[in-house]
Amino acid sequence: MTDHPRIPLAGVIGSPVAHSRSPALHGYWLRRYGIAGAYVPLDIAQADLRDVLAALPKAGFVGCNVTIPHKESVLQIADVVTDRAALIGAANTLIFRKDGKLHADNTDGYGFIANLRQQAPFWAPAAGPAAVFGAGGAARAVVASLLEVGVPEIRLTNRTRPRAEALRAEFGARIVVHDWVQAGAMLEDVATAVNTTSLGMTGKPEFLAPMDALPQTAVVTDLVYTPLKTRFLKTAEEMGCTTVDGLGMLLHQAAPGFERWFGQRPEVDAETRAAVLAG
Ligand code: NAP
Repeated sequence: MTDHPRIPLAGVIGSPVAHSRSPALHGYWLRRYGIAGAYVPLDIAQADLRDVLAALPKAGFVGCNVTIPHKESVLQIADVVTDRAALIGAANTLIFRKDGKLHADNTDGYGFIANLRQQAPFWAPAAGPAAVFGAGGAARAVVASLLEVGVPEIRLTNRTRPRAEALRAEFGARIVVHDWVQAGAMLEDVATAVNTTSLGMTGKPEFLAPMDALPQTAVVTDLVYTPLKTRFLKTAEEMGCTTVDGLGMLLHQAAPGFERWFGQRPEVDAETRAAVLAG
């Protein structure tokens, strides 16, 4: 034990992790609030995850974010798993508690909803069905959080249909699985439409499902944020819909962790967005 105050450290554990915007984001908040602390990228192999998580608190780490490919396996190592992390089956935020316990939480669903509420304040989730494209890791958080805020029906589609069926089996009858080849048809009468696939991301194929059935009243959001305005969002915008880009989800999911580690609830505002885009 050291008897002098230590500078709190945090970071993001993944592999690869060099592309992560989290160091730029947390670094900006640390400077903005004048907090003596640091946040670093940690590229950790799967085989070393347990040892690294045991060692980090001894080196002054108070917590970390977790990204691909460790989001699921970290649940096996954690001592305490929040209900929402257990429901989603993955964690993105870890706290190294003073009693030595490893606490695992998932703030992706919170970030997803907070972003929609901030950028489309009139959004009424209960007003109609939601169409969700994709059934990967991020879709689990999106589906769980949409159900929690009262969406009456989720129309879910995925290229690999069994993954969508698995989500239905787990999350229940408010989910209706649609065929990927007819995905565009499920946009009829929706209040919300979400792309959770990696389609449209720089370097990946484009999102090509027809969107003609989308009503003008729908709020449309994409989890992809590189580019900020994906073709999915551009098409929806041209049709007169309100669109919400995915960068805000990244910013909002980070706020609870920053507060727990560094003792200050950070603002998610235009300056934060600009700092992350510049960083
Ligand atoms: P994942 O678990 O690997 O899932 C990928 C999803 O994309 C699956 O549904 C997959 O379908 C689908 N997909 C991939 N290539 C496809 C193709 N060629 N045609 C049709 N579908 C395809 O990844 P994830 O963690 O869910 O992440 C998905 C996206 O969300 C990524 O772009 C990620 O960067 C983004 N994301 C953003 C945030 C944020 O804060 N904004 C947070 C989390 C994730 P199959 O099941 O058929 O493979």
